[in-house]
Amino acid sequence: MNPTRTLDGQTALVTGASRGIGRAVALALAECGAEVVVNYASSPDAADAVVKEIESGGGKAYALQADVGDEEAVDALIKTVLERSGRIDVLINNAGITRDGLLMRMKAADWNAVINLNLTGVFLCTRAVARPMLKQKSGRIINITSVVGLMGNAGQANYAAAKAGVVGLTRSAAKEMASRGITVNAVAPGFIATDMTKDLDAEGILSAIPLGTFGTPEQVAGTVRFLAADPAAAYITGQVLQVDGGMVMG
Ligand code: NAP
Repeated sequence: MNPTRTLDGQTALVTGASRGIGRAVALALAECGAEVVVNYASSPDAADAVVKEIESGGGKAYALQADVGDEEAVDALIKTVLERSGRIDVLINNAGITRDGLLMRMKAADWNAVINLNLTGVFLCTRAVARPMLKQKSGRIINITSVVGLMGNAGQANYAAAKAGVVGLTRSAAKEMASRGITVNAVAPGFIATDMTKDLDAEGILSAIPLGTFGTPEQVAGTVRFLAADPAAAYITGQVLQVDGGMVMG
């Protein structure tokens, strides 16, 4: 076996894979041999472009639209993946949004939208893959949280609460599934250059990053790839790996 093709014959679902970090993760897992399901919400052209990029590199992929904050849509998504691919080996819970605002003025709708996608969506997708993975007695689940969930952030109470919730969910799922050979870990990026961060005041943020730059989606994808595809990661579960240029230490 080519040591870099550890996911040959396996299927990986990446939520929110049309852009940003999810896109980079989809490309990285395809390089490891996985057939990649490129989930998206509202960007079919971008999702198709990711599929084409994977195919042009000799890989296998297809795109599926689903709002992963919607219970029925998630169950239908996983059913389609199982019908089409026959298995699901890797789940990357990446889809996420922000609706920033100071707590005092935050609308309940903005609170609910962020909790619903960024936390409940992770629960829904994890629950939906649990049965097939438990039957297979193998699986790797990686949840994209954020350093904001570890340290808090003014103007992001909804986002920080959801991302902190993802850490608790990750550890609970890891404990529930470990005896069946399934690992569940989280990756916590700091500030990564994507659409999500393009309107932020970079100058103010950079002074808080010891390595002095925003990270790239590919740098986050490298850590996800390690957890999802490297045999050496088989003994790691319930952990949060930070990819944050040293922003949060200790
Ligand atoms: P992004 O560039 O804004 O991309 C978001 C992705 O999520 C898109 O593919 C989008 O699909 C998808 N999405 C949005 N709503 C969805 C829904 N309801 N159902 C399914 N997919 C949906 O974001 P990003 O910066 O790559 O962030 C990816 C993840 O990393 C998020 O969980 C985010 O919280 C986390 N993160 C990001 C940073 C950062 O600095 N960028 C830092 C820490 C953590 P469409 O294209 O179809 O809209």
